Amino acid sequence: MSLAEWAADYVNLVLAVGRHDANFVDAYYGPQAWKAVAEAGTPRPLPELWAEAVRIQEEVAASELLPDEALRRDYLLGQLGAVAAHLARLEGHRFSFDDEAEALYQVRPPRTSEATFEAALARLGQILEGSGSVQDRYQRARERIIVPTDRVDAVFQAAIAEARKRTRRHATLPTSDHFSVEYVRGKSWSAYNWYQGRGTSVIQVNLDLPIAIDRALDLAAHEGYPGHHVYNALLEQRFAQGPPEGRGWEEFTVYPLFSPQSLIAEGTANFGIEVAFPGRERLAFERDVLFPLAGLAPAEAERWARVQAELKVLAFADNEAARGYLDGHLDRAAAEAFLVKFSLRTEAQAAQRLRFIDTYRSYVINYNLGEQLVRRWVEEQGGTVEDPDRRWAVFVDLISSPRLPRGLGL
Ligand SMILES: [Zn+2]
Repeated sequence: MSLAEWAADYVNLVLAVGRHDANFVDAYYGPQAWKAVAEAGTPRPLPELWAEAVRIQEEVAASELLPDEALRRDYLLGQLGAVAAHLARLEGHRFSFDDEAEALYQVRPPRTSEATFEAALARLGQILEGSGSVQDRYQRARERIIVPTDRVDAVFQAAIAEARKRTRRHATLPTSDHFSVEYVRGKSWSAYNWYQGRGTSVIQVNLDLPIAIDRALDLAAHEGYPGHHVYNALLEQRFAQGPPEGRGWEEFTVYPLFSPQSLIAEGTANFGIEVAFPGRERLAFERDVLFPLAGLAPAEAERWARVQAELKVLAFADNEAARGYLDGHLDRAAAEAFLVKFSLRTEAQAAQRLRFIDTYRSYVINYNLGEQLVRRWVEEQGGTVEDPDRRWAVFVDLISSPRLPRGLGL
């Protein structure tokens, strides 16, 4: 058999697993006939699918390869390993948080001490003046940057337009490139990009909770440009499509959510915000364009830039809360309280995050650890903040390659 045949087997396997878990297939734009086959009749039994994952993995691992096929093979093997681990979970196997993260995302998440979070909170206490706990002061300050509901769309559209303009200077997107926004309620996430194929995405924004203005660029860049939308579009263009544009690699027509690809996807989506808006450019754009558009005082923007630096440290509190909760050391209330204390969420936001953890489990590491690992890798290739063009080049190369976390030399 050839890699092309194993790739087809892998895609059909992922689609079949999707029958057992509606969250598993995040995007698919391969042959509709394969989807129809996967969706017909009763779902194939889990043990049969697991054996299929192992069979493809073993055959790919033992195959003779052409010199330029190594990354492709590593990608397939990494993805297949995660599919097998996810099938074991669906069959009832309980992984520890760290083992699950390693099996699905190829990294063992390091532990962050409470002392590290306490130090970040102390620095935040210097930035946020006033009385009461730093958590209370943060929430009061945050209320002053909530975007009024009737301005949310205008602010998002402005952020998307700017992020898109900046990205298009550095990445060649399909001519059909399109990104539309829908507003929804009743979800465990705050925003989600649904890639539709042919360079188009629908992004859904959850309006259950108030939206602070710093979400605008998070959303425009993370979900859109140069984040998830661009990542999917470039992989489709470069690999999934047939020649002459692409290489006709079928495995890139499907995106299984619980797989190493997600660490790259979330890590590049988060780091992409800084690639598109390096250094003080983010502050300048927010202060001069988005704050006035939202009817908020631009004087607040400077302080939020400093707050955001500490939030990057506190983002790792999600991993500690999820590890404690999923491994049974924290009950739900204690995990929510941990998030309120260390990730500065409101009680409602902490409850929403626990619902996310219930569904997505160790996936939470992909945001913070993914960003850290992607930043390290891009900077190691010379893509530092002092050299924005080089940073763009390394970044675009990463999001248009089959590279998985192990390929980042971790
Ligand atoms: Zn994301």
